[in-house]
Amino acid sequence: MTAMNERPRPVGPPWAQRGSMFSQPGLARPVDWASPQDLGRLRARHARERPGKPLVPTSVASPRLSHDLFARLLSYGTQQEVRRGDVLFSPGDEDADLIVVARGKAEVVRTATADVPAATVAVVDAGGFVGELNLLTGQNVYLLCRVRESGTVYRVSPERLRQLMATDVELSDIVFKALIARRELLQRSTAALALEIVGGARSAAALALRTYAARQRLIHLWFDADTPAGKAMMESSSLTEDDLPAVVMSGTTLRQATPGVLAETLGLSYRRSSTKPADVTIVGAGPAGLAAAVYGASEGLDTVLLDAVGTGGQAAASSRIENYIGFPFGLSGNDLTGLGVLQALKFGAQLASPCQAVKLDTERNGDLLRLHLQGGEVIDTKAVVIATGARYRALPLERWPDFEGAGIYYAATELEARGCTGSPVTVIGGANSAGQAALYLAGRGSDVSLVVRGPDITAEMSAYLVDRLQAHPRVTVRCRSEVTRLDGDDFLEEVSITDRTADSTQAQPCSGLFCFIGAEPATSWLTGISTGDDGFIRTDVQLNDDDLGPAWATLGRRPLPFETNIPGVFAVGDVHSGSMKRVAAATGEGASAIASVHKAISTLV
Ligand SMILES: Cc1cc2nc3c(=O)[nH]c(=O)nc-3n(C[C@H](O)[C@H](O)[C@H](O)COP(=O)(O)OP(=O)(O)OC[C@H]3O[C@@H](n4cnc5c(N)ncnc54)[C@H](O)[C@@H]3O)c2cc1C
Repeated sequence: MTAMNERPRPVGPPWAQRGSMFSQPGLARPVDWASPQDLGRLRARHARERPGKPLVPTSVASPRLSHDLFARLLSYGTQQEVRRGDVLFSPGDEDADLIVVARGKAEVVRTATADVPAATVAVVDAGGFVGELNLLTGQNVYLLCRVRESGTVYRVSPERLRQLMATDVELSDIVFKALIARRELLQRSTAALALEIVGGARSAAALALRTYAARQRLIHLWFDADTPAGKAMMESSSLTEDDLPAVVMSGTTLRQATPGVLAETLGLSYRRSSTKPADVTIVGAGPAGLAAAVYGASEGLDTVLLDAVGTGGQAAASSRIENYIGFPFGLSGNDLTGLGVLQALKFGAQLASPCQAVKLDTERNGDLLRLHLQGGEVIDTKAVVIATGARYRALPLERWPDFEGAGIYYAATELEARGCTGSPVTVIGGANSAGQAALYLAGRGSDVSLVVRGPDITAEMSAYLVDRLQAHPRVTVRCRSEVTRLDGDDFLEEVSITDRTADSTQAQPCSGLFCFIGAEPATSWLTGISTGDDGFIRTDVQLNDDDLGPAWATLGRRPLPFETNIPGVFAVGDVHSGSMKRVAAATGEGASAIASVHKAISTLV
């Protein structure tokens, strides 16, 4: 029995008796950069992107595992005795392990950059584990992990971590939430200095890079080259205007950087982790492809998901989706698809972007289809799901290509709208996406001209949007009108709008032209797949006997739901003929197609 004033003695192993296991000098609050102070402050003030709402409470970054759970976590790893100063991983390493600390202490350090000294990001005591979301995305290591106090660690390999995620619900829930929370915290910490992007605020190339970084949730800082912070950063990294946009990382500077080169450097391009063919390869990571990846991976299929641009598809360009069931107050497309990406990763899908499919061999080689990627890589796979959606239509106007990304946009999110806040803008289109964009931009203080070719906006737009647009003091709806001329130097400055009824043309200032006039199916990379007259892919009951070649006679079956005229090749979402062109419909089709993929694969063996 314990004496009255005697404190109970701790029981169990040392790691079960401590406080926070992921103590974070650099995580929970802004870090004071040592030198040079001025640059540090400037950079801190100017460079941070506005942090979004955390996906999970940041408190879950440092879980305290029970004895049983910790023992279970250790069982996935390989034991290693370590001494003070040993490096467990360092920037640039591929396929990092989750490091579980059983005895001793480990520290995570952002290594020094050109002008900012190294900083400790986290200290992990016995009972904790080192790792963040890159363990699941496959991104190369960008921080250093070193042993601070000698002891014992267990290394959990990426393969074993995937097994843990797939089989141990209780443990995977805790580990997964911690990995997400850590990424959120790291984005707000000194760790963000490990990847700095600098470029012109209105440069199309810089926008592409920032959009990629944002959609991949990369931990990074953005610098506008025209601000004092941007100039200071360029000077300290010896960058000139000609180098922009540029990315500065530990030991590497990417000049005139593109999303492709950045992905390659970070290890986010396509890398087949096993020599086995994939069960299913999904082309396009919009809502349809993401849903297919979540269902495919969660149902045990070896699933690869590719996107030519970045994850999220068109939906990620939607500032507010109000008609997705379960979200009565709406949610941004970026949030919705960002969560979908995490879900697909959790179930073990392999994601790669930017990664463009350029050809699909429709003749099977044995049981396998072969998909060709830009750059010459190939993927052998039992089934393919085409979820490439549709590409935006443009107006056939002189200088249109010059202003794409430099005043002309096909989406209206924070990223595109930032350069136009408070200035007049023009939105083209008569459907819901144009109406939503007009309201969003007007809400940010811009005077918006909504240019509609038809006689009436009620023809294609939902009534609730029409009512809001007509009531909004900053929105002018201009029906029977068209944009007929674009002017500006490097950036769009003025548009001319022709009123077909009055037969008059008026030029007006315009800092952003947001175009929502529909899209063409993204099928130019495919041959031999049956489409409708409009180019959208036909499947199952839309196919007739003339579409079906001899392969079907051998198989002895008709196409399954969402199956194209090529056995084992499926089409879902906006690229699918007759699709509804809505997020819910796309996710429904992506998920449903997986049931057909299972059946198709089983008939191959
Ligand atoms: C601004 C805007 C607002 C919208 N608002 C709403 C709304 O409020 N509610 C609603 O329900 N719907 C809305 N939509 C429509 C909705 O976003 C689409 O219906 C949905 O995104 C379609 O999903 P998808 O996966 O089929 O295609 P997409 O979302 O178009 O995704 C296709 C993906 O395939 C990739 N891809 C294309 N070709 C290749 C290739 N060769 N190799 C690799 N990858 C490739 C593309 O990069 C893209 O990421 C909106 C659309 C826009 C543009």
